[in-house]
Formats: sequence, structure tokens, C-alpha cells
Amino acid sequence: MPAEIISIGSELTTGAKLDTNSQWLSLELSAVGVQVHYHTTVADDGDANVNVLKTAIERADLVLITGGLGPTLDDLTRDVLSQVLDVPLVLHEPSLHVIRGMFARRNREMPERNVVQAMFPEGSEPIPNARGTAPGIYVEVPRAGRTACQIAAMPGVPSEMRVMFQEAVLPRIAGRQSQGRVIRQARVNCFGLGESAAEELLGDVTARGRDPEVGITVHEATITLRIVAEGQSVAEVQRKIDATKRVICERMGDYAYGEEDDELEHVVVRSLCSAGLSLATSEAGTGGLVAHRLTDVKGHAECYRGGLVRPDIAQLAAPSGMAGEPLSGASRVSREMAEAMARHCRDQYGADLALAVTECSDTDDREGVTASPLVFIALADRHTVDCRELNVAGDPAILKSRVAKSALNLVRLKLLREQVVESARSR
Ligand code: AMP
Ligand code: MG
Repeated sequence: MPAEIISIGSELTTGAKLDTNSQWLSLELSAVGVQVHYHTTVADDGDANVNVLKTAIERADLVLITGGLGPTLDDLTRDVLSQVLDVPLVLHEPSLHVIRGMFARRNREMPERNVVQAMFPEGSEPIPNARGTAPGIYVEVPRAGRTACQIAAMPGVPSEMRVMFQEAVLPRIAGRQSQGRVIRQARVNCFGLGESAAEELLGDVTARGRDPEVGITVHEATITLRIVAEGQSVAEVQRKIDATKRVICERMGDYAYGEEDDELEHVVVRSLCSAGLSLATSEAGTGGLVAHRLTDVKGHAECYRGGLVRPDIAQLAAPSGMAGEPLSGASRVSREMAEAMARHCRDQYGADLALAVTECSDTDDREGVTASPLVFIALADRHTVDCRELNVAGDPAILKSRVAKSALNLVRLKLLREQVVESARSR
């Protein structure tokens, strides 16, 4: 059942506003197993709208429209629907009553122009709007030799559209789409390798047509494997999901760190709490992002002692009130600096573990040698300091996020290894 999403508005095609509705609707549809094949954005222009809608009815079984339902002259969606369906617009008295009521409750006279919002293409159904004045429009368009095309037109205002979609549109789609079938999805999150390396490890798991299907997406270096399973019953679908999760975890090994909305910081806080260990942080290149992520997790106060943010780690060369060896000789982006930062931080906070991130080097910094920018990450415990050099070539917009995640991942892997050692010992 391929779907198409049409976003209407000249503010979108001129670039004045970003179309966020299509993204949100696509995520919602994929969650119920509906594949979106097209996003179309079109200006407030009658002819262009008619063309777009005719094309969509031909190539998609489900068409979701947002925008153009307001009362002003540039709101054309209802006229376009009536033109394409070749039916007149008719007044729906109950909708007019509701719209008048909304104005009355706000002690305002309803402008005559708003009557148009109670006009619907003959044969369509009004969809109530819990948040605003413009009702939506639902209609099924018969097609020769094929199933009817479902169309739902919703307001452009994101908050109104979302409520309308969830309350009134989704049930109509799910009812038609599943016909006794159950669709569920699950996500496994991985970190520490690139997308193509992940695909190589996964082998046939991401092959098209596999049952259940597994999709792979990357967001700021986190790889998410999305399993979408279909079947006759919840139990059958759950069995399929569990079996696929097992295969994914086997093949991805320690790269797989969590499920659903789990971020690395959730896993780190959980693992620290269950091991009864505390952590402190010292950050330069990430500007406090590691601390920010950790403090977003519920229960972090149990294990997170606090952190330093040092835009200029040269300050560390003459640490005020810090114990530890002098650092005057160490380069700002170096293994020694990272290790010293971690040790100082651990002492200062009296934590079991301390995580440090140096500044990121600029390419120019590296004495005429064209090299990728680097950053060093170190994790200190009572006995040792584990340090990693990270090559941070790539999109600068996600650099901090990537480095912060890599730092958290270092903690996760250490706790994981210790857990393995611990459980081997107790056997
Ligand atoms: P409309 O229903 O066309 O009157 O749209 C009302 C308002 O909703 C517009 O002024 C935009 O600010 C917002 N809007 C419309 N379409 C979108 C969209 N696709 N994504 C985000 N905001 C939108
Ligand atoms: Mg508009």
C-alpha cells in the first residue's frame, strides 16, 4: 500500500518555512507498516494542486494532504478536491455549527468567510478538528480495476494536524490496511562502526523481501536497525521480531547497545548504577555535551558526580587547586593531555571513573601536514587510564555529537567488559 504525502503552501516552496509535517507523517506511517513512496510539496496554486492530486491518486493508495484548509483565498485544498473528484462543494451544517460555537466561546463574531470551512466535496466525510476551526476532509476515490484511493486532507498547523491524524485518520488507515493482520516494529541501536561495515556484518539480514524486513538508518553515527514484522497474531509477530533481534545481536556483537529510544547515555547510567560506580567528566572539544547527555537521563544523580568544561585546556598546564603532575609539556590534542585530564578529574570529584575529552585539532594545526582532525578520549579508573585517538573527519555539524557518543561508548564498553569478567569469576 504505497502512500504519498502532499504538503501545500507557498511558504514551503519559497523556503520561508520548513515542511515538518511530511517527516512526522512518514514516521507515523512507517510505524504501522505503510511505506511512503512520495513526498510532494506544492505552492498555493490551483492548477499545480490539481495536477499533483491527480498524479497522487494514480500512483498511491493512500494520499495524506496537509495545508490549504484555512478560510482565506489562498487556501485551495477543498476546491481542488471538488475539481479533481468532479463533485460540487456542499454545506455541512453540523460542522458550521461547531465552527460558530468556537467563535462564540472566544466571544468573537464569526467572519462570513469561515463558512467555507464547513463546505465539503459531495460524498466526502468531515474530520473533526479538536484544536482549531478547520475540519479535515476524508474521501475514498474509486479507481477502475483497483482498490479505492484513500485521501485525508488535514490542516497545515502541525499541532492540529497531529491530533487529527492520530485520532481520526490513523484508525481509518489501520482498519483498511491490516484487514486482520498485525504489524509491529522494533528497533536495535548500534554504535562504533560505519553503515557499510554494519551492512557487511549483518549479511542477508537487511536483504529486501526478508521476513521480517530490516531497514538500516544512521543518525549522528548511531546506527538503527528497524524491524517491521507482519502476521496474523501479536504472538506470531513477536516471535518473528525476537528471532530477528537475536540474529542482529549475534552479528553486531558489542556494537549493539540498546533498543527502541535507548541512547548511549541511558545504557551508561543504567550500567553505572547497577555496578554501584560513579563517574565524572572533563570536556574541551565537546563543550559539555557529555555532561548534558548524562544529566538528561533520569536517575543520573545516583552515579554522575559532575563535570568540568574547559574551552581552553591550556589552563590545565597550571591547574588551580588540582592534584597531579604538571602538564606544561603536553600538546593540547594528545594522549598525555587526555590521560592527565582524566586523572585530574577523577581526583577532583572523588569518582570511581573519570572521562576526558581533549580539544579537537584543526587540520591547520598539524604543522603543514594535511591530516584529519583528531581528538583524544580517556577513561581513568583507580588503576589505569584507557585512551583512544579518534579521527573526526566528516560532517563538522555532527562532530561534537559523534565525539560525545564515542566518549560515552568508551564507558559503556569498559563496564560491559567488567561485567563479563565479573560473571565469569562468579561461575
Ligand atoms: P494552512 O493550513 O495552509 O493554513 O497552514 C497553516 C500554517 O501551518 C502555515 O502558516 C504554516 O505555518 C504551518 N504549516 C503548513 N504546512 C506545514 C508543513 N508542511 N510543515 C510545517 N508547518 C506547516
Ligand atoms: Mg496555507
